Amino acid sequence: MVGFSSSLGTAFLSLLALNGLGALAHRWFNWQFDITCEATGYFVPGNEADLVEFVRTQYPQKTLLKPVGNGHGFGNLTTCVNDGESNRDSYILSLTNLKHLEIFENKTVTFGGGWDLIDLIPTLEENGLQVANLGSEMVQNYIGAATTGTHGTGKQHQNLANQIIGLRVLNAKGDIHIISQEHTPDLLKAHRIGIGALGIVVEVTLQAEPLSFLKRTSKVVEGPQDITKLYEMIAEYGDKYEQVNIIGPNLDWNVTTEELVPRTSLTLVYWEETDYTGAPNCSVDFCANDCGRCDRDYVCYDYNNYAIATPPAGICYRGFMGQFEHFFPIENLAEAGRDYFNYALSQSDRMKPYQLDNPIEEGLHGGYLSDDVTVITRFIKGDDNWLSPVNKDNLPANASGIFATLEYSWIPSYNNYTLQWFYQDLLKEFIPVFGEKYNVRPHWNKMLFNNETYASTIYPKINSWLDIQEQMDPHCQFVNEFLAESLGIERCMSLFQ
Ligand SMILES: Cc1cc2nc3c(=O)[nH]c(=O)nc-3n(C[C@H](O)[C@H](O)[C@H](O)COP(=O)(O)OP(=O)(O)OC[C@H]3O[C@@H](n4cnc5c(N)ncnc54)[C@H](O)[C@@H]3O)c2cc1C
Repeated sequence: MVGFSSSLGTAFLSLLALNGLGALAHRWFNWQFDITCEATGYFVPGNEADLVEFVRTQYPQKTLLKPVGNGHGFGNLTTCVNDGESNRDSYILSLTNLKHLEIFENKTVTFGGGWDLIDLIPTLEENGLQVANLGSEMVQNYIGAATTGTHGTGKQHQNLANQIIGLRVLNAKGDIHIISQEHTPDLLKAHRIGIGALGIVVEVTLQAEPLSFLKRTSKVVEGPQDITKLYEMIAEYGDKYEQVNIIGPNLDWNVTTEELVPRTSLTLVYWEETDYTGAPNCSVDFCANDCGRCDRDYVCYDYNNYAIATPPAGICYRGFMGQFEHFFPIENLAEAGRDYFNYALSQSDRMKPYQLDNPIEEGLHGGYLSDDVTVITRFIKGDDNWLSPVNKDNLPANASGIFATLEYSWIPSYNNYTLQWFYQDLLKEFIPVFGEKYNVRPHWNKMLFNNETYASTIYPKINSWLDIQEQMDPHCQFVNEFLAESLGIERCMSLFQ
């Protein structure tokens, strides 16, 4: 067994921003500063015992508690209830000091809620280990990523939550629940995607695997102008490659004709296992994270986790972005892809009033090929986690159990709030139009607007999940307005009225 603990460890004091009574209000922002709230305070426990004590003290007062990772979301999952908007105090909690880590002989790894991917992945690598898959960046806290179903690509690759085989979760009363694949497999399926509402995850155990190398190929291909044929082609690429990320098509705003114009070239980024270990160079330039160029062919080789995800320095785009990512059974890809794209394309008239004369400048643009709309298609193997956007619970018997995702990014001109809000409204329209038709499930931490009725269609086990939510959180301390509305947590609604 290998053990680590933060060298500062117990030297940290719990940090509690005190207000006049006293507390200092704490303003929270997400990564792109378009989601914000003001909490009564910010609590950063020095260790687990401090956290338990704090939560126990707050239980009788029904204080609202919002555990956060690194705020790399597009929606309202991490939004606290504003101080003064209810008769309760409201705290943001960061577990950043919970940094113990132990590696066991069976390649399981147990670590505290403070580990971010940017530290965790190199630590695993130093010990000859990797995780099965990652998203395109390593910016997230591990729990922040896993608990929302963060995923990469690959028809035989699952989201991060499926790496988890055990959890220690603190409920609102301050009691620790131990949940494991071995002893409580159903509970684990409920808690793996808990989106901050089922308690505070203080520790996770994941099943790691031996290090491997991947070859990553980026290849630009011209797609047909005809959108139906284009999406048939994209679906064929999805069939052909096991692990592929398809970047494009795009929509560009033509300032002369004042309309959106499709750009149908695609960049295929695909990964293959390799024995070649001579040149670990994939982090240098990765078009899938808005940083490297996407308009050229090249190959690189690296450790698996570095070939599929880049470090935080890879956040090259610094402006606003409205983004959703929708998951649906792969069988629907050709039709859903075509219909989504045609719907986006048909919005020119509505966009005209918002197109100002200040396109994104060099340097703020990142690696985006379009100032306007970029589409990315990825693939993911389904699972049986209750609130997983790729749960197989409502699929027909003959379904493959593999999902495709469409990620749409609308990119406004720099700091253009009006356009950002317009795009966010536009994003809302896709689920009502396509949701039921294509069995669409939205990413939990991108723009998500479904209501409880829709949630119960795509998450057949939601009522059982809500029962656990009530047991873990009888006073709605882990719930915010967004969760109450999108999941239909009736008993908590009155808090937000
Ligand atoms: C630039 C960018 C690239 C991205 N790329 C991808 C990608 O490739 N694939 C993909 O699927 N997604 C991607 N995402 C989305 C991102 O992975 C998720 O939004 C992820 O949840 C963010 O992690 P975080 O640590 O910032 O969590 P936060 O946004 O801070 O929190 C997410 C949720 O986790 C909960 N939480 C955090 N810590 C705890 C805890 N200890 N206990 C209980 N609940 C907790 C919070 O309450 C919240 O509900 C990307 C986002 C951005 C901004």
